[in-house]
Amino acid sequence: MGRALHRALTMIRPEGQAHSATGIGLAIPHGFGDHGPELLRELTEGLEIPFISANAPACAALGSFWSGEQPESGLCATVHVDAGLGLAILQDGRPLQPGPSSSATLDHVGIDPEGPPCACGGRGCLHQYASARAIIERASRTGDLAHDLGLRLTDSSLSSDVVLIALAAARGEPRARDVFVAAVSAVAQAVWSATSALGIRAVVLSGPGMQAAPVLVGETMDRLFTARARNLGAEVSVSVSQVQPHPCAVGAAVLALQTFMTPGRASRSEPAGGVFPAQAV
Ligand SMILES: [Zn+2]
Repeated sequence: MGRALHRALTMIRPEGQAHSATGIGLAIPHGFGDHGPELLRELTEGLEIPFISANAPACAALGSFWSGEQPESGLCATVHVDAGLGLAILQDGRPLQPGPSSSATLDHVGIDPEGPPCACGGRGCLHQYASARAIIERASRTGDLAHDLGLRLTDSSLSSDVVLIALAAARGEPRARDVFVAAVSAVAQAVWSATSALGIRAVVLSGPGMQAAPVLVGETMDRLFTARARNLGAEVSVSVSQVQPHPCAVGAAVLALQTFMTPGRASRSEPAGGVFPAQAV
């Protein structure tokens, strides 16, 4: 694999030594499961260059920070919304919990004590309203919406189906808008609980659905999050990541650079000259 990677990088950046690879960063998605560590071992067996992995929210946060979307110092929360709802907090650009198995989750933050029972023993947990699966299930119960949007409704199409709903919501399709805004509203409530308790004033949202409808997400967060802070006399900044195609991939590459080239904090002002980071998700 090391040789294949070298060949691929040579094709992308043929000049000089610009194609040398430092290491590989792997962003571990939500729900990697019990077989995850074994799969990771198989994937990385025989690699001739070092690799490092971290959970997807932490990688999204690093990718967003590296791209200049987050403050250089202080606390910033990245909320990564995909199959699950992850939270990564950077302090001065460093993740508080970078390990693959230490993912902080918003999945079981309660948003409705009268809501449906959850496997955790609580009721009305966020993932029941705002995970990709919850959004798809709600869309499926909304008349012909799933059919009209061409949703595939398979396990492997969760993210792409959510993107289709978000895009329809963004262009004003009323049923899609109801479904999507309900999910973002639930996210706003959970993020408020988590960040106001910690005094975090900067929040970045990432994930396929969020990034497909940034204006609508921004409006909803303004109404249900930023306004609450303002009512209490605090200014907060909420934005949707614009790192494309995926902040997790950029963040995984940043993690590899941090680990194998410049141990310590990623610095936006000191790019690793001439080195092309290998990305993987
Ligand atoms: Zn729960």
